[in-house]
Amino acid sequence: MSSPAPRANAAPVTRYHADREQLAEVLAGQPRYRLDQVWAGLYQRFETPDELSNVPKALRADLTAALPEALQLVTEQISDRGDTVKFLWELHGGSRIETVLMLYPDRATVCVSTQAGCAMGCGFCATGQAGFTRQLTTGEIVEQVIRAARRARELERRVSNVVFMGMGEPLANDAAVWATVERLHGDVGMSARHLTISTVGLVPGIRRLAERPLPVNLAVSLHAANDRLRDELVPINKRYPLAELTEACADYLRAKNRRLSFEWALIDGVNDRPSDARELAAISRRLPLPAHVNIIPLNPTPGWPTRGTPRAGVEEFRSRLEDLGVNVTVRRNRGTDIDAACGQLAAGQPVVLSTLRARPDTD
Ligand code: SAH
Ligand code: SF4
Repeated sequence: MSSPAPRANAAPVTRYHADREQLAEVLAGQPRYRLDQVWAGLYQRFETPDELSNVPKALRADLTAALPEALQLVTEQISDRGDTVKFLWELHGGSRIETVLMLYPDRATVCVSTQAGCAMGCGFCATGQAGFTRQLTTGEIVEQVIRAARRARELERRVSNVVFMGMGEPLANDAAVWATVERLHGDVGMSARHLTISTVGLVPGIRRLAERPLPVNLAVSLHAANDRLRDELVPINKRYPLAELTEACADYLRAKNRRLSFEWALIDGVNDRPSDARELAAISRRLPLPAHVNIIPLNPTPGWPTRGTPRAGVEEFRSRLEDLGVNVTVRRNRGTDIDAACGQLAAGQPVVLSTLRARPDTD
């Protein structure tokens, strides 16, 4: 048995990159029912080829060799409260990315990376500070979910939600992100309503997403509701200013009839003023369905001098928005003790690595 040949210009065939056709190539000469058996093992039971107990031993070994994992575990960290697990992976070629598993009483969510680094240059974001290295493949994104789901199972939990909110800009790698959505929906069996794509506001990407069949949730990282401030915080706003962005959001809502959320990293003295609340409420009201605002008090990162709004200011901003009729949630910071909170993912910071304990790979 040999590895399936990658298609022209295609990414290497890793365990969760191979589609059914490529797996069929690997299984050439085997009875036809093997394909379903192996596929169900990989996607429904999250088994490694080695664990496929209904498959002959020799074939298991062949499958392990033909379908290598894309992610090598470097470290795993668990937050003090035990409700957040952060994985640092090394990819083929040496880049490193992170994945976060968050355990809530009513759900378990995996936050996946879509790029190694990010080219969007938002100054307050640790990933943005590190710059762009490369796109992730479908196999690399899907495998983050599966490996986190295996870990969740060890903790007697089932992953119910996936958010594309880790390192990178999902809509700058939307072919791989969409293929991942289809795999999670069609093969793992997750509902599109439990999948959320977060974007910095790439208008053409939002428009492409509106044309896709599955109604995934869209989160737009707004952070400022006037162009002067947004140009500063989110440089891509100069290319896709607020008027264009809100029009694309309105069209997405009309196409999908799904709730849209705006992410707002609250920065002390920068975007937490009464005028910011008024401008944000005005944008939200102009949409066909009112947006839901998620406030995330800015998490500190090494390369950005400004601090998050203190607790009292967060409450004031929240109640101001509520008075203006906006639905608001303040997102509890999770995993800040292990740098697993929003915007803190920046694989390979030496200070982090030196304090971690390596956990043996599960496979
Ligand atoms: N690139 C996408 C998804 C990854 S970032 C996006 O920008 O939406 C995930 C979320 O974390 C975004 O809302 C982003 O603005 C936010 N974020 C980045 N740095 C942050 C920080 N230091 N504190 C709080 N939120 C941050
Ligand atoms: Fe990239 Fe999102 Fe970070 Fe901006 S906030 S640099 S788009 S990952």
